[in-house]
This record gives sequence, structure tokens and C-alpha cells, in this order.
Amino acid sequence: MSSLPVLVLNSGSSSIKFSLYEAGNGSRTRLFEGAVDGIGTDLGKFWMKDASGNKLADETPALPNRSVAFNLVADALQSGKFPKPAAIGHRMVSGGPTVLENQKITPALIDEMDSYAAFAPLHTPIAVYIMREALRLFPSVPNFVILDTYFHRTMPEVAKHMPIPEEYSAMGVRRYGAHGISYESIVYQLQPNVPEKLIVAHLGNGASISAIRSGKCLDTSMGLTPTGGLISGTRTGDIDPGVLLFILRKIAEKTTNAEAAADQLEAVASKKAGLLGVSELSNDMRDLREAIADGNAKARLAVDKFTWTIAKWIGSYVAELGGLDMLVLTGGIGENDIASRAEICAGLGALGIVLDAQRNNVRGAAVISAQNSPVTVRVIPPLEDLIIVNHVLRLLGGQSDPA
Ligand code: ADP
Repeated sequence: MSSLPVLVLNSGSSSIKFSLYEAGNGSRTRLFEGAVDGIGTDLGKFWMKDASGNKLADETPALPNRSVAFNLVADALQSGKFPKPAAIGHRMVSGGPTVLENQKITPALIDEMDSYAAFAPLHTPIAVYIMREALRLFPSVPNFVILDTYFHRTMPEVAKHMPIPEEYSAMGVRRYGAHGISYESIVYQLQPNVPEKLIVAHLGNGASISAIRSGKCLDTSMGLTPTGGLISGTRTGDIDPGVLLFILRKIAEKTTNAEAAADQLEAVASKKAGLLGVSELSNDMRDLREAIADGNAKARLAVDKFTWTIAKWIGSYVAELGGLDMLVLTGGIGENDIASRAEICAGLGALGIVLDAQRNNVRGAAVISAQNSPVTVRVIPPLEDLIIVNHVLRLLGGQSDPA
């Protein structure tokens, strides 16, 4: 296949990231990348840079809604400075129970995924909006959906199934996981020597962890939605359902509208909890580290809960895998927060996880375990765009997944 310009669109709850690759047999050259961030605020951020890192845009526009945000992206794509995409890959957190394979996007497929917006309520509305806009903007260009849930499809039923009445399971309520494209990219980078027993923790604003056996997902912490699992920046993670019922009843004392009450509960669990909820300060690890240095006890507790939960999860995944060969930390915190890495691993010596303080004292890709640590601990930044481009090329060529 000769090389083609492939556009990657990756939307978060309040951001749109985009990048254009010249991609062909074995070659992947990024022509530009950019992002619009802070959708829903008066002071957003819009930046773009070319392959050499030269700034093409660096603005702080008001971004009252996603339409204004996407128009910035659309204008940049149509400026004529770069080739028109020959294919577009859209990252999608969850396509629901019926859309589990990466595939070409049609209007009907978008409607189907939209009907399961409750499975990724912060992500799906903006993702389907962008898909519809991309089909309108580039009607003759094939668009593909690349799913985070795809990597987790290999989980056994015992990991997927939720302990709920069957009628809800029949509606598709089960563990799907998220961050799958990141996990896929870590396994990809470890090839051809993918360890048999691997745990990867993706620690960003959203945080999750996966047990991976011989390159295939065995279990993952996020559940039906990205709100489950580990504590995240603003999400509870797994929690006693009684806590949610208690909060729901408190909300119900003030509203009789069930939908409004559900929305409020969702905001509590997804936007106001986690590191932000406990610290009452910030969901951002850098802010929390500064506050801890100033003696802020709530920030300390929030971060302790975060690292302690991750350590517990590592322990349970070692049990599931029957041992451990390698632990990989990734995501903004995994790649940069030296203290979190040290705190997570501090009590895991009995599991064979021993860090080297000197080696850990770096940002970015590194082996951070001690020479004699039975388990290798690595920091590997994810390459999500690369995985999306790989899938797009494969699907364009009409190939099925080799996995
Ligand atoms: P997202 O999930 O939005 O993609 P990221 O993977 O970028 O998020 O991770 C964001 C998190 O990474 C934030 O908590 C941020 O504070 C943390 N982080 C980023 N850079 C650093 C750093 N230099 N030191 C500590 N934490 C950092």
C-alpha cells in the first residue's frame, strides 16, 4: 500500500485531540498534531504544531460548546497547508454491547453507539458528535471507529460478568474496561518479547489497571463505565453501592425528578469525587504534590488513597495471573510522578517488585526496577495514535485482526 494521510481524532469529555499521519507500509510520519481543550469554558486552549515542533497555532479562545471547538479543528484541517485525509480513525471509549469490533463508520453505526451513551457518559456524546461532523465535512473519506473496549474483548466471562440480576446483564451491563488503546500500544511496544504475566497501570486523569496474559487482556479495573475501578482524578472508582444509594436518597430529598437526580448522582461519582473529592483542592497530581509539600493533610490522604488502591489492585492481579513478570506504569502520572511510582511500589517487595530510587528518578520511558528485582518495572508512554493508525490501515486493506 502506498502511503496515505490518516487523520486521528481523539475526543475527551472536554477536549478534542487531532493528528495527521503519513502512513504506509511500515512507515508512520506525523505531519502535525493539535488539541482543543477546555470545551465549555471561556478560556479554552487551541494549539497545533508541525512535525518539527513548530507552533502552527497557540490560542486561548472562548469555547462555549463543542461546535465552536470542532470548527477550529475543521478550519485547521481545511487550511490547505496539509494533505486531505484519505482515512479518519476515531477513538471511541465504548460502543456498547453491540459495537465491539473496530470498523467503518456509517450513520446507522453512530446511532447505535449513541444509544449506549450511558456506557461512557462523559465521552460518547462528544465522540458521536465529532463522527457526524467528520462524515459531513469529508463525505467521501472512510471513517473508522477504534474502540477502547476492543483490547478487553479477550477477558473471560468470569471477569466480564457483573453480580447483578440477569435481566440487567441481558441489557449489556458487564465489565467492558477502558484505556484499551493505551494497553494495546504497550503490548505492541513490548513485542516481540511480551512477558507472559504482565500488569499495566494507565494512570492519567482517568486511571485503570489491567492484568494481561501473553499479550491478551485477562482482567481490567474499569467496569461498565470508566467510573469504576481505581480512584481517578474526579471519579470514585469501585465503591460500596450503598454509598451511591445514600447519596441518591440525599439528592432525592431535594428533587422529585428521577432523571435530574440520576444526573446529579452521576456528577458526584464522575466529576466531583476521586482525588478532587478527597483533597477538596484539585484532580491534578501536580497540584496535589505541591499541596503535600506545604503540609496539606487532605491532599496527602487523597494521594495515599490513590497509591494504596493501585497497590491493592496489583496484588489481586498477581493472584489472578499466578505471578508477575513485568509491571508497566503509563499515563501522565505513571510517566511523570516519581513519588507516586515510589509510593505504589513501596510495599510490594513481597510480590517481587523492588524499585531502584535512582532509576526511578526520571521522567518518560525507563526501567525503574532494581537490578535484582524479580519483577521488571518499566515506564512506557502509550502510543495510542499509532495503534489507531495501524487499525485504520488494516481496515482500509480489508484485513481482519490477526489476533
Ligand atoms: P488524560 O487522562 O487526561 O490523558 P494524562 O495522561 O495527561 O491525562 O495525565 C494527567 C495527570 O498526569 C494529571 O494528574 C497530572 O497532574 C499528571 N502529571 C502530568 N505531568 C506531571 C508531572 N510532571 N508530575 C506529576 N504529575 C504529572
